[in-house]
Amino acid sequence: MGKEIRPNKVEVAIIGGGIMGVCIAYYSARLGSEIVLLEKDELGAGCSGANAGLIVPGHSLPLATPGIMAKGIRWLLNPESPFYIKPRFEPELFSWLWTFRRACQAEKMFKSMAYLCELNAASKSLFEEMAAEGVNFFFEKKGLLIVCRTKANWKAAIEEAHDKEKLGVTVDILDQESILQKEPTLKPEVIGGLYFPQDAHIDCLEFVEAVAAKAKEKGVKVLTKAEVIGWQKANGRIKKVLTTRGEIEAEQFVLAAGAWSPYLIKDLDLKLLVQPAKGYSLTYRKPINSPSIPMILSETKVAVTPLAEGLRFGGTLELAGLDLKITHRRVEAIKKAIPNYLKAIDPEKLEFLMLWRGLRPCSPDGLPFIGRSQKYNNLIIACGHSMQGVSLGPITGKIVAQILAGEKPLIDLTPMAVDRYN
Ligand SMILES: Cc1cc2nc3c(=O)[nH]c(=O)nc-3n(C[C@H](O)[C@H](O)[C@H](O)COP(=O)(O)OP(=O)(O)OC[C@H]3O[C@@H](n4cnc5c(N)ncnc54)[C@H](O)[C@@H]3O)c2cc1C
Repeated sequence: MGKEIRPNKVEVAIIGGGIMGVCIAYYSARLGSEIVLLEKDELGAGCSGANAGLIVPGHSLPLATPGIMAKGIRWLLNPESPFYIKPRFEPELFSWLWTFRRACQAEKMFKSMAYLCELNAASKSLFEEMAAEGVNFFFEKKGLLIVCRTKANWKAAIEEAHDKEKLGVTVDILDQESILQKEPTLKPEVIGGLYFPQDAHIDCLEFVEAVAAKAKEKGVKVLTKAEVIGWQKANGRIKKVLTTRGEIEAEQFVLAAGAWSPYLIKDLDLKLLVQPAKGYSLTYRKPINSPSIPMILSETKVAVTPLAEGLRFGGTLELAGLDLKITHRRVEAIKKAIPNYLKAIDPEKLEFLMLWRGLRPCSPDGLPFIGRSQKYNNLIIACGHSMQGVSLGPITGKIVAQILAGEKPLIDLTPMAVDRYN
């Protein structure tokens, strides 16, 4: 049971103690309002735990890209592929897939990518600012490598590089010799790749805890084991949330419950096109021959993240609903990918620390939903950050704090409108 005393009435109640919830709390605390953060479990217990922790102002890509549908159908038949949809009859899933298919058009994808690059660049600066403000977290600025073993993937990576150059992103195209020089732990079977020098990485759970600690110092009340189980509404406004630790009245509510968000607002007759997309990570004690630059293994979509004391491999995207069951074949596929790219690193021979899974809150176009609900003016939604929720945490916190304060947000929110698919 969380130790904090529950307030009965506050100005702002934030629902969800993942990276969004804590960053919103951190930036809103500056407003001097009375704020409570409600988390059903522990902070970072959702998707903001042992994810890959990559901050991607360079490698900002939505999941919906041209060609992904054809690839996805091939992958569906392979139990070890990076992508899976659990067959089921669910109207929400059909609407999501239908909208996703439309978002895969080249022009739409390019627009989403451009917008994500802008958001991620602003967010990276805020990570720097937070570190300077005394939020204490592991933060490495070593860039990101995209590593390719096949000609087809290297060709696609080069296309991504050219698209990124058009957006003013710095990216180095590396041939085999240059990539092996850059990261000597890679195997000679690697034929080339990209390097995004501006990308960075963190340990997300450590960051969530550090930001929450600073927010608490600034007066935010954090209630863990406080699950929101209902709402009380009147005259187009929400009055109270009902939680497993009692009722809380507030002037404004922020929904930042990640993949749980659409389920939580069903009782308010609100809809959000967000699907839970499960992914796994495996963390090992960092070996002496660990790579030092984080990387994405292009063919298998596995992310490799060197942490302070650990080495983490993360991947897979399973659209299977709100289901945390572990599919061991997919976890094994992540492990099997590693020795194909890295010299002398075989997960079977490393000291195993942890298997983790999380549900990414995926929107069809890869852009989050941020803004006020049309139906309930005192409800702000901040979810659907898909594969880039770590990277977009601080900018989301800052934007939501601006909305709460009635200020003009520092970035145009139209592409992230909450009702863009209604
Ligand atoms: C394998 C993997 C690797 C990833 N790697 C990266 C990466 O490298 N870079 C990147 O940017 N992103 C990455 N992501 C995505 C990123 O982890 C998510 O986008 C991000 O964590 C979402 O944060 P959130 O705060 O919206 O959701 P969450 O972290 O899931 O937080 C939502 C919180 O709400 C709580 N909650 C739910 N219902 C209720 C309720 N009724 N009452 C109270 N609380 C409730 C949950 O317990 C949870 O703690 C990765 C994801 C996975 C799975």
